[in-house]
Amino acid sequence: MMKKIKLGFDIHGVLDTHFDRYHKLISSFDRDKVEIHIITGMKEPLALEENPNLQLLNYDKWFSIHQYCEDLGADIEFDHKNRPLVDPKIWDKQKADYCHREEILFIFDDSPHYGQHMDPNIVVYLQQHNPSWKDWRHVAE
Ligand SMILES: [Mg+2]
Repeated sequence: MMKKIKLGFDIHGVLDTHFDRYHKLISSFDRDKVEIHIITGMKEPLALEENPNLQLLNYDKWFSIHQYCEDLGADIEFDHKNRPLVDPKIWDKQKADYCHREEILFIFDDSPHYGQHMDPNIVVYLQQHNPSWKDWRHVAE
């Protein structure tokens, strides 16, 4: 049996910003051949509460950096909006490590901080242009 093609999608600035397009794209795939991975900072229940539409994508797997850092036992603090703060040296490479482990073929993301850790021999990082991109973890609000 042929190995499934695995595709990764970021939420913020990607799926949530162009939901209808991504929904159309993902719905067109033969899901016996293509696996959909949501690869994001947020934990699944919280993100689904914020954006219930994501369930329409019928994704196969969810990777949350927050959850993974918790599982690793990394130090996690929270900002005034209750967003998790982890040393960027740890946080920023988790999407890449996940893509390498899972052999994700392509990832759609809008954050250059994640792309720089990705090995192009394993995963092709497609950076979606996002004019309103700002990284709340690196820029004080
Ligand atoms: Mg993003």
